[in-house]
Amino acid sequence: METARLIQSSVKPATGYSRNSKSQPAASHRKAITSPLDKPVQYVRGVGPHRARLLASLDIRTVGEMIEYFPFRHAEQGRPQAIETLQLNEPATIVGIVDSVYKRGGFGKPTVNIKLSDGTGTMRATWFNASFISDKLARGQVLRLFGTVGEYDGLAQLNNPSIEWLDPDDDPATWDYSKIVPVYRATKGLPSQQIARLIDTALAEALPAIKETLPQSICDNRRLLSRTEAIEQMHHPSSMSNLTPSRHRLAYEEFFMMQLAISLQRRWSTTYAKAPKLPTNNRIDQRIRQRFPFNLTDAQNRVINDITADIAAERPMTRLLQGDVGSGKTVVALYAALVAVANHRQCAILAPTEVLAAQHFNNIEKYLEGSQVNRCLLTGKTPKAQRDKMLQAVVDGKMNLIVGTQALLEQKVRFTSLGLVIVDEQHKFGVSQRATLRGKGNDKSKSHAHLVPHYLVMTATPIPRTLSMTVFGDLDVSIIDELPPGRQTIHTQIIKPKDETGAWLEVRRRIADGDQAYIVYPLVEESDVFDLKAATVEVDRVKRNSLPGARVGLMHGRMKKNEKQKVMHEFTKGKLDALVSTTVIEVGIDVPNATIMVIQHADRYGLSALHQLRGRVGRGSKPSICLLMTDSKGAIAGQRLNILCETNDGFRIAEEDLRIRGPGELLGTRQHGWPEFRVANLVEDVDILMQARDDAAQIVHQDPGLKSPQHADLKAELRRRFRDKVAFIDVG
Ligand code: ADP
Ligand code: MG
Repeated sequence: METARLIQSSVKPATGYSRNSKSQPAASHRKAITSPLDKPVQYVRGVGPHRARLLASLDIRTVGEMIEYFPFRHAEQGRPQAIETLQLNEPATIVGIVDSVYKRGGFGKPTVNIKLSDGTGTMRATWFNASFISDKLARGQVLRLFGTVGEYDGLAQLNNPSIEWLDPDDDPATWDYSKIVPVYRATKGLPSQQIARLIDTALAEALPAIKETLPQSICDNRRLLSRTEAIEQMHHPSSMSNLTPSRHRLAYEEFFMMQLAISLQRRWSTTYAKAPKLPTNNRIDQRIRQRFPFNLTDAQNRVINDITADIAAERPMTRLLQGDVGSGKTVVALYAALVAVANHRQCAILAPTEVLAAQHFNNIEKYLEGSQVNRCLLTGKTPKAQRDKMLQAVVDGKMNLIVGTQALLEQKVRFTSLGLVIVDEQHKFGVSQRATLRGKGNDKSKSHAHLVPHYLVMTATPIPRTLSMTVFGDLDVSIIDELPPGRQTIHTQIIKPKDETGAWLEVRRRIADGDQAYIVYPLVEESDVFDLKAATVEVDRVKRNSLPGARVGLMHGRMKKNEKQKVMHEFTKGKLDALVSTTVIEVGIDVPNATIMVIQHADRYGLSALHQLRGRVGRGSKPSICLLMTDSKGAIAGQRLNILCETNDGFRIAEEDLRIRGPGELLGTRQHGWPEFRVANLVEDVDILMQARDDAAQIVHQDPGLKSPQHADLKAELRRRFRDKVAFIDVG
């Protein structure tokens, strides 16, 4: 029963040796075990059901996962020093004899205090919440302790030191050694030291079962450690410098497996999947361009060339369109959509929220006024009768252009001749929906059933090259790197607390001129009551102190959709002077009359998030400004924000974000659908990534289906890692 519960709670992508254990109940599973690596941790000596639960909270369910739970750092325990030489606040190792043991505190959470001496002096060691240790200490024991030196009551003291029991009968000379200690990310009830002990037990059993996953030729060419050696050294490096080749090997492996999966997937979709050809000609091009009241920028034209070349071919397009906020992506998307319609194919445009879908639709309506293209907005809010009518028109093939939200992904929507799917802000969807969409294709009863649509993803989050190669690795990339002419650059300024009065005066001045303001306040979205209260308090504060007399609205993530829409509508119509909001306004909202944005506690956001936020202003003809309020005294926070004042280049900002905060922050943690890297680092290991990419491409080139016997293990490993994405591996 115990294990069954653990199994059900596992929703994360495959990162370990867990394929079998996650999909079968424990009892039948035990018979099916073939490798010690698949053994559930519960059956490792010293674990049991309680600790198995704690380990599961760290995503460790099998022995294989356990030995791949690597330390996040290693502590160097020097050789023992004499107690009389201890220095306050320095790390120290000592060996001493226990003189006395005191226990205080109640059940389960005793504090244990010992005194020990080594001939040069006496000191104390204290463990808090030390149920795991309280019964094991006794007078006369010889202990080796490691920790940071503190002081209490005139004696040196180590708090919660790591501990090792030495054999009093041993020659004391054998106690004089240094060692490297792995430090693991711990959890409540399971400190690093205990994790270390359990991992050691698991390692002893599992090491002989570890198989080399990389082809031998690659290990030789790239001079990689064997997998066994790398894993062992990660936990117990023979020296600190030996960590580097171990990390290198494991990072390479992670990159390589992912690149291989991506290459195979790509190869598969270009070989087997077919999309309708959607060619453009002069007549079509002219008719579409007439719809726009401006000339397209060079960047827009270049990107349109990429897209039209792609969709004219049978090979399904999978292209990522990146462009800063306001760079004119929607116009490009509409161009592509109209090419599809001109070819008598349907096009679906999807946005992450209803507000954005509606906005896309309204924009598109502006350009399509008087056109014969049949278009509709289909969201969860569309009234049933209307919705049914639209759906019918979609199935009949009469509806050409369908704008909507995820509601369009529901099974009920059946297209007749879907030729192109355009997704805005795709990373908010995640990869799994992408697969749904791709599989969607067309109504099987119709003649186009065998065709899949072309696929265009738009994002305003500039995605650094390393990320687009990995997370979005199966997409081609086009970039709009130029803003339409006459666009105002947004003047950005950092506001320290002493300058706040001036900042609010500027907001008031602009409101008096008839402009509107965004005031962004960092609330954890979908969070608790506390934040909600904070938001309300904040609105009151703004109304009363900062902008007296102004019409101030509030929008946050906990509001119902229609409430949000109502507030947004009032703001758009100019019925509100200022909108206090959380980052729910982050994407796509377009109110040209809003010319000033105040971002409170700006230091709490990622740079890319701030860059996107400020893109909400500067959308009209008036000069716009963004004020980043921060009371952070940290020099680093200041430096980070300075980049926003210096540049409007979203890519530079994103690179900086990636460097400082890592990919999870940039894309939203775990939203991209690939397992997180355990060892590899997308910023520091770019060279390794490039090597892995080349090697993977070469293998796919030689053996696109991984059919050769020498690749059998590799194929099995891919299946293990990407079990829900293996269709393309088996078909190839
Ligand atoms: P994005 O979707 O990239 O944020 P949009 O396509 O919504 O950008 O365009 C932002 C604004 O710029 C819109 O008001 C649009 O009409 C305008 N625009 C787009 N392309 C051009 C162009 N080539 N010249 C002038 N204005 C343009
Ligand atoms: Mg847009």
